[in-house]
Amino acid sequence: MIAKRRLSIYLLGIYTTGLSEASMNEKKRTVQESGLSRKRLMDIYERLYGRFGPQDWWPGETTLEICLGAILVQNTSWANAARAIDNLKKADLLTERALQNVRMDRLARLIRPARFFNMKAKRIKGFVAYLSKHFEGDVDRFLGLPTGELHEELLGLDGVGRETADSITLYAAGRPVFVVDAYTKRIFSRLGHFEASRNGDKDYLALQERFTAHLPADAALFNEYHALLVRLGHTFCRPTPKCGECPLRAVCPYPEDDARRIDP
Ligand code: SF4
Repeated sequence: MIAKRRLSIYLLGIYTTGLSEASMNEKKRTVQESGLSRKRLMDIYERLYGRFGPQDWWPGETTLEICLGAILVQNTSWANAARAIDNLKKADLLTERALQNVRMDRLARLIRPARFFNMKAKRIKGFVAYLSKHFEGDVDRFLGLPTGELHEELLGLDGVGRETADSITLYAAGRPVFVVDAYTKRIFSRLGHFEASRNGDKDYLALQERFTAHLPADAALFNEYHALLVRLGHTFCRPTPKCGECPLRAVCPYPEDDARRIDP
């Protein structure tokens, strides 16, 4: 898979390079039209950091635990994912070898708090089988791949979408990739910098581009920024927002009346 992907990344590079000023201009235009600037993004960041302080993400003791957490948190809260990880810890299963050897039904039972446990057990098994096959089970060797290659490999794994791949690339491998999630979309749409379409993948890339176009490629900044947005989305910018106490209230154009509306 790796050799094939290397070739595809290379070809993609050629394709993208040859591609088109038109598409590059389109990208630039989208970023400009979003009304975002480095100043605006850093102002938002400072306000969030000033209120919430450092978030110390990602909560995980090892790189393998961070990777598992990124799979377990799919479509559920971090609290649920953390309970599943605790169960794996207590069962002494937080190594690649132990996860390879454990039976699928036992693994599924242990990660039950994270919901969709049968599917996630299969994904975890697939992940460790991949590590074993290509990296002798060494997750850090895998995470040492060049960023583009690592990202492509992750996206090729069963059940790993952009958000999970980016979370692992940023939080486990420490590379400057901005993670976008449902909170990011909701907050930046209310701030007036993003309009969702029906194409989730296109939306993801468009919003991500808005951050990477204006901010320095700094993994520590991206780490903290995403964690702060999750905190804001969890505490104030909820489906029914609590604008009165929000640290972004002074700079958010979300109309007062709309604050009583329930958004996705
Ligand atoms: S002011 Fe309200 S809508 Fe704007 S970011 Fe804060 S909670 Fe969300």
